[in-house]
Amino acid sequence: MLHRDNMDAHSFHCNTPAIVSSRLKIPMSTLYVTHPAALRHETPLGHPERADRIRAIETVLEKERFASLIREQAPMAEMESLTLAHPESHVVALRDLSPREGLVRVDDDTVMSPGTFEAALRAAGGAVRAVDEVMGGAIDNAFVAMRPPGHHAERTRAMGFCFFNNAAIAARHAQKRHGAERVAILDWDVHHGNGTQDIFWSDASVLYCSTHEMPLYPGTGAPSEQGEFGTILNAPMAPGEGSAVFRDVLTQVVLPRMDAFQPDLIVISAGFDAHWRDPLGSLNLTEADFGWATQQVMALADSRCCGRVVSVLEGGYDLEGLAKSAAAHVDALMGREIKA
Ligand SMILES: [Zn+2]
Repeated sequence: MLHRDNMDAHSFHCNTPAIVSSRLKIPMSTLYVTHPAALRHETPLGHPERADRIRAIETVLEKERFASLIREQAPMAEMESLTLAHPESHVVALRDLSPREGLVRVDDDTVMSPGTFEAALRAAGGAVRAVDEVMGGAIDNAFVAMRPPGHHAERTRAMGFCFFNNAAIAARHAQKRHGAERVAILDWDVHHGNGTQDIFWSDASVLYCSTHEMPLYPGTGAPSEQGEFGTILNAPMAPGEGSAVFRDVLTQVVLPRMDAFQPDLIVISAGFDAHWRDPLGSLNLTEADFGWATQQVMALADSRCCGRVVSVLEGGYDLEGLAKSAAAHVDALMGREIKA
C-alpha cells in the first residue's frame, strides 16, 4: 500500500532522485515505444491518418542525437487493460468488425483494415508499457509513437480515427497497477479529446486539461464543460491563434491547475496538428512551441511526481510538421535545451 500522508510529493514512490535545478543539463533516460503493426492499420488513399505519419517519426528519430533513446516494441494490450476505459462489449464489437480483407467503415472518417485491430491493441499496450516503465522508476519519461490515435474514442464509441483511448487506459493503469492516486492528462492536440473527457467526466481522480481549436471537430470542449467534479479544464483557442496565446494559456491557466491537482503522473495526449503546417487545423504553433510545452510539463512533473511523464501520440497530419514537432518533443523529454 502506498500512503501519501505526511509525505511530500517528492518522496511519493520516487525511485529516481528529485531533480530540482539544472534539468536542462542532465541527460534523461527516455523510452521510445513503437511497433511495425502501426504501419499495418490501413486507411483509404488520401486519408490524413496514414502509415507515413509513423514512418516520418521513425525517420527523424533515427538521427544520431536520438541514439541514446531506450527503444521498446509495443505489446498488445490485454482485455483487462482495455476495460479500464471501455466496456468489454466495445472491444468485442471492434474485434468482430475487423475485416479479413478490404476496409470496413466505423464512421465517416474512421475505418478498419485487416491490420487495424492489432495496431489498436498495440497502441494501447504501448501506453501501458510506458506507464509500467516510468512508474517503476526504470525510466524518466516515455514517448509512445503508435497509431491509431485514441483521444476521440469514448467509452463505447470509436470515432475520429480512434478506437481505444490510449491516454485514458494509461492513466487508469497507473492508478490500478501502480498506486497512483491522481493522474493529470494534458491534451494539446488541435482537436478536443471528447473521448477522454467522456471517460473521466465523473472521475475526480483524473484531471483532464485540453487546449484545442474551437470551433473545430468534434465540436465539444467549451470552457463550460467541467465534469461532474470540476476536474475537466477546457481552454480553447480561436482559429489563427498561435504561439503567444498557447504559451499564455498554458502558463496562466493549464499548468497552475495541473500543479494544484498534485498529480502522481502526467500523461500527455501529444497531437501535433496544431502546427502551422497542418492541413486539419488552423492554429499556428511551431515545433519550438511543442518543445517548450514539453519542458514546462517536465518542470511541473519534477516538482510534483519525480519527473514522471508518459506521452502518447495523437494527431499530426503534415509529415514535415509532425516529424519536426515530434523531434522537438523528444529532444525536450531527453532534457535538451530547446530553441525559443
Ligand atoms: Zn487532432
